[in-house]
Amino acid sequence: MNQYQVPVVWSPTTREHDPLHEVWVGVATIGTEVAARVDAILSAVTGSGFRQVEATPHADDVLARVHDPALLTFLSGAAERWRQGPYADLVGQTRVVSYLFPTPAMTAGLPTRPAVAIHAEAGTYAYDTMTVVGPGTWAAARAAVDCALTAADLVLAEERLAYALCRPPGHHATPAGFGGSCYLNNAAVAAQALRDGGHDRVAVIDIDAHQGNGTAAIFYDRADVLYGSVHVDPGAGWFPHVVGYADETGTGDGAGATRNAPLPEGAADGPWLEAVGGLADWAVAEGCTALVVSLGVDAAVDDPESPLLVTVDGYRAAGALLGATGLPAVAVQEGGYHLPSLGGLVAAYLEGHSGLVPRA
Ligand SMILES: [Zn+2]
Repeated sequence: MNQYQVPVVWSPTTREHDPLHEVWVGVATIGTEVAARVDAILSAVTGSGFRQVEATPHADDVLARVHDPALLTFLSGAAERWRQGPYADLVGQTRVVSYLFPTPAMTAGLPTRPAVAIHAEAGTYAYDTMTVVGPGTWAAARAAVDCALTAADLVLAEERLAYALCRPPGHHATPAGFGGSCYLNNAAVAAQALRDGGHDRVAVIDIDAHQGNGTAAIFYDRADVLYGSVHVDPGAGWFPHVVGYADETGTGDGAGATRNAPLPEGAADGPWLEAVGGLADWAVAEGCTALVVSLGVDAAVDDPESPLLVTVDGYRAAGALLGATGLPAVAVQEGGYHLPSLGGLVAAYLEGHSGLVPRA
């Protein structure tokens, strides 16, 4: 019987991000990406198969290799700038939310200047209204990056699997943008750290219910980091809506290094696992020597954020498929919002990946 203990890297600081609400279709709705997710997961990854490791602080160098410095500057200062503005007194808004998005449809080729007011400048970086910035957002997002980097350190030191309990999630954060409840791209940071640590080719396999458009964008023109994703078809009306289609395969040096496997609404374990297995085989065939798993568990049947119907046994089997690659791996937490089942899904995946015997 395998007694491997999966390191669970976490940070109490990741609880400090409190979105209060998301602005969805113009209405403030209760957010689902809540701090309680951290504790729901922590309480499930206990016992002899796991050991908790607190994340250690890391410098910004790897982070700055996957994100535009302007995004980091904006995010780190946004909450304080907002607090100094009139928004709380004027409209009761304590979170940074843009009211303007300078898309190409607005600027239409005109020369543009940076917006001075933060309620407009935020739209330069935010690409939706549901990903709000509050007083603890930067600290939590930065702590999540430290979780990813600490997990990558462990794998570079010959741990075969390390789990980073990142919150807020990251795979929708693009080189210079945030959205989809994501601010900093933890999985991309982990992949870059594995590259910098000596792995010539790294695969990011994303099993969250939604395509990780941020990770895809960061590596779209690079040959050294593959990005493969199985997700609900954006063409059926799901986030990220405008990207995540099967014919997006990379560009330039990265031609052929991106693979999207969109699934129809209602897809369950069979087609989902077939896609996961295909991505695992692809990573091995392409000569990758390390793996980052974007471990979203919102493809599960009870999750409110997606129409996929994957079971807990499906997540365990996905872990076994990716574990069977034999590649050293960092599993990074992405989505998963059904608090009663969230932790069990994560534990099942990690048990499957590490070869642990499932607990009764
Ligand atoms: Zn998701």
